[in-house]
Amino acid sequence: MKIYGEKKIWFVTGSQHLYGPGVLAQVAENSQAIAAGLTASEHVSANIESRGVVTTPKEILDVCQAANSDENCVGLILWMHTFSPAKMWIAGLSALNKPYMHLHTQFGAALPWGDINMNYMNLNQSAHGDREFGYIGTRLRQERKVVVGHWQKESVQIQVDDWVRAAMGWAESQTLKLARFGDNMRQVAVTEGDKVSAQIQFGYEVHAFGLGDLAKACEKITAEQIAAQLELYKQDYEIDAEVFTDAHSLEMLQNEARLELGMEAFLEEGGFKAFTNCFENLTGLSGLPGLATQRLMSKGYGYGGEGDWKTAAMCRIVKVMSLGKAAGTSFMEDYTYNFGDPDQVLGAHMLEVCPSISNEKPKVVVERHTIGIKKDIARLIFTGTPGPAINISTIDMGTRFRIIANEVDTVKPPQDLPNLPVAKALWEPRPSLEVAAAAWIHAGGAHHSVYTQGINLDQLNDFAEMAGVEMVVIGADTNVNEFKKELRFNAVYYHLSHGI
Ligand code: MN
Repeated sequence: MKIYGEKKIWFVTGSQHLYGPGVLAQVAENSQAIAAGLTASEHVSANIESRGVVTTPKEILDVCQAANSDENCVGLILWMHTFSPAKMWIAGLSALNKPYMHLHTQFGAALPWGDINMNYMNLNQSAHGDREFGYIGTRLRQERKVVVGHWQKESVQIQVDDWVRAAMGWAESQTLKLARFGDNMRQVAVTEGDKVSAQIQFGYEVHAFGLGDLAKACEKITAEQIAAQLELYKQDYEIDAEVFTDAHSLEMLQNEARLELGMEAFLEEGGFKAFTNCFENLTGLSGLPGLATQRLMSKGYGYGGEGDWKTAAMCRIVKVMSLGKAAGTSFMEDYTYNFGDPDQVLGAHMLEVCPSISNEKPKVVVERHTIGIKKDIARLIFTGTPGPAINISTIDMGTRFRIIANEVDTVKPPQDLPNLPVAKALWEPRPSLEVAAAAWIHAGGAHHSVYTQGINLDQLNDFAEMAGVEMVVIGADTNVNEFKKELRFNAVYYHLSHGI
């Protein structure tokens, strides 16, 4: 079973009747072999299901409408084995509301030089058939991924999988429900936004709840459930024995177990896969959830602090895109700088960093929380795993959304930080903090982000194209002046492309 289970991609091959039934039978056989070959590939993380050969406008429209209404179909791979006159595709592609990838490939890799004749040429026409097909996608102004190369080549299969993972993220975005406990942190701008626009653009729903609803769910958690949860904490984390012998520390740990189980029950009952809360809205709870939120993130829930629903939704989407990868994804905040050579960012949050970003065993500690309700809270402490990572921010520009991504290199801190009571990651932004932070600020990037080592920029770009949202990348080649020009060009493009 593939990691995405029942969720699959349909493989549809275009042709026409000009060549006779013998050729079409061969086309059908070959397209089945490609779909099966992609499914068998260790690089491809979903089933690629062959949906046959389409040769008429009616067949094309039918398969596109069937894809629209099949909830397990998250996208289509389209390929023209032969020539397939592209006016036939207008109705189908216009009706299609799922993402598609155009795989520009050929069944056989090497030409049979000694044997090649016109039969071979007529059977293997994707070199020009796919160009005819490509024209109509461009003419219809459709965003789609184009992957070029032989389907058995590793680099082609990896590109297919990048798009498959983006399509899985997009499918998640379409059905995601997010629970928002309380409201945004007062006076904060970037965590605000238009939730109606977000639902139109990304599909996800944001549902607000009073804290009393959540408090009731937490009150229902029994002493037995809490005791069982503490046993799990003992297995999963390093915990000093005195946490269990000191009555106050034990109570703080029990508080987190109650919050975790209460929130999880609430989220499960409502079908929510992401949530936000805010330290200014905690009535009825023992305090701001620490370990509880960290555990829920590590179980796959998206999270954003201070009511940041855009980051919470993106956190969940990226977790789905990176399913099965060893590398993690967390809510994150650019917290403090180390100006040096090179300049570095110490990323953390008040409490809520996901342990999936670390490959060390997290330690549970009970420490004073000093923002909002001041009290002791149990939380996990660890350090982010060194290596490349991406910080992703989604912002509301008022009339549209923008996704900002910065490539960073996470490094091991030069010294221990024995007095820092929160989880953290230390990174060096590409190309440098000087350029990256200037570009990020010009683009309007938030202080919050989704920090991930589980997806790459190609996947994120595919997702942004599926969403029809601007994405700008800050990386090794970024130059601030050129970047500002890109922002201005994009402003014109998206203003025009979204219409009046
Ligand atoms: Mn914050």
